[in-house]
Amino acid sequence: MKKITNFIPLLLIIISYGCLEDSSEVIVDSHYTFEEAIKGTKAPEDLVKHLEMITLTYYSFDGKLHQGQMVTHKDLAVDIKEVFMIMQANKFPIRKVIPIVKYDWDDGSSLIDDNSSCFNYRQITGETNLSMHSLGLAIDLNPLENPYIKGGIVLPPQAVYSINSLGTFTEESIVVKEFKKRGWEWGGNWNSLKDYQHFQKNLSQMKLRSSGEESHTNHNVTLLP
Ligand SMILES: [Zn+2]
Repeated sequence: MKKITNFIPLLLIIISYGCLEDSSEVIVDSHYTFEEAIKGTKAPEDLVKHLEMITLTYYSFDGKLHQGQMVTHKDLAVDIKEVFMIMQANKFPIRKVIPIVKYDWDDGSSLIDDNSSCFNYRQITGETNLSMHSLGLAIDLNPLENPYIKGGIVLPPQAVYSINSLGTFTEESIVVKEFKKRGWEWGGNWNSLKDYQHFQKNLSQMKLRSSGEESHTNHNVTLLP
C-alpha cells in the first residue's frame, strides 16, 4: 500500500504535465506575412495603410485550439481580439480564420469553406457599392452555420440556419452581446435581409458620438453586408 501511495504524487505530476502539453498544442491554420495576405487585392494604397493583420486563437469544431489570421482595419483590432478571447474562454467554436487571399479573393469560395474573415475589397452582395469588408470594417464568422438570407437566396447555398447547431449566432449568443457592447451591429438584426455571419462597426459614426456631436448623419448610414 505504501508503495502505491508513494507513486500517487508522481502520477499526478505526469498527468498534469500531459494536460499542459495538450493545452499548449495549437494547430496553425494560417501563417502569412501581411504582404502575402494583401497580395493581389484591388484596394488602393490609402486604404491598405489603415489595415493590419492580427493573430487569433480559437477552438475549432474538432475541440482543438487553432491559430488563424485576420486582416482588419487597425481601429477594430482590439475589439476583435477581445471577442475572440471571450469565445475561446467559452469554447464557442470557430471553424477557421484565414485571409481571403487563400481563396484568390473569391468570397464565395471562402464562405463554402466555412472560413471566417474580415478584409476583402469587394462589392456588397447583390449590389455595385463597396462593402464594409472593403475597408476592413466588417467580419463574417462561421458562414456555413450563419448564412446570408434574402428572400429565397441563401449564401453559401448549402448553409442551413439552425439555432441549436454549434457555432450559430442568435440574439442570446455571448458573441453577439459582446460585439454590441463594443458598438458593433449584427446582420442578424436587419429587417430587409438577414446576414447572421456578419458584424460591422461604423467608425465615422462612433467618432461623431465620442466627440459629443449629435449624430445627425444617422439617416445616411447604409447597411453594407
Ligand atoms: Zn459580411
